[in-house]
Amino acid sequence: QAVSKGASDEDASSETVTSAPSAAKTFKELGLIDSLCEACEKMGYKLPTPIQSESIPLALQGRDIIGLAETGSGKTAAFALPILMALMERPQPFFGLVMAPTRELAYQISQAFESLGSTINVRSTCLVGGMDMVPQAIALGKKPHIVVATPGRLLDHLENTKGFSLRNLKYLVMDEADRLLDMDFGPILDKILKVLPRERRTFLFSATLSSKVESLQRASLSNPARVSISSNK
Ligand code: ADP
Ligand code: MG
Repeated sequence: QAVSKGASDEDASSETVTSAPSAAKTFKELGLIDSLCEACEKMGYKLPTPIQSESIPLALQGRDIIGLAETGSGKTAAFALPILMALMERPQPFFGLVMAPTRELAYQISQAFESLGSTINVRSTCLVGGMDMVPQAIALGKKPHIVVATPGRLLDHLENTKGFSLRNLKYLVMDEADRLLDMDFGPILDKILKVLPRERRTFLFSATLSSKVESLQRASLSNPARVSISSNK
């Protein structure tokens, strides 16, 4: 597959960015502002991981991203940090939506947003199944910046929670995209995606991506940059 980083890509397909482990860059050198670099430091992150180094600059340029890297490689911050950068420029309720396949993952992601965004007072809420709808609806009423959700419960709120809408959404993330796209989430995802604005950025992150092209198209990425970090080096 073609390997070119930042090449101008006339064809609609995505270019692939492989990890020629370039000279390690700092978070600041990736283009993040000081308050976010500080938050990374507080988390104990000394240097960006490869998936972060490769995808953050592309995301900051406004690209859609397909990010592939093994479990434990730091994919959460790879999508959270660019979203937090954009949020700082134009703070707004319901700025970002992250969909995850399990409750546990959704909680972890929500916590990561709050930790990485602590220096800029980011508010995030988690919508997962198996919990009472009412407290979640109340949390939505407080208009968080970031919603992290499992698809079924998100759809439930979109259909039943008065006043809740994602029509101003700027960023959509599908985390563990393979599982989201391959499980029986398909029809639910389609209903959710139908009510999201087309004018948005979309990030798709996963350890593997075996999903069919058709299910990938569900996410309606726009000329995505594909960042693939192989672990067998
Ligand atoms: P993935 O989603 O790829 O499985 P996570 O985003 O869950 O990985 O991150 C795995 C662990 O690595 C988490 O504990 C996270 O806090 C930590 N981590 C993320 N980025 C860095 C970094 N740049 N330096 C050190 N640790 C990091
Ligand atoms: Mg992850």
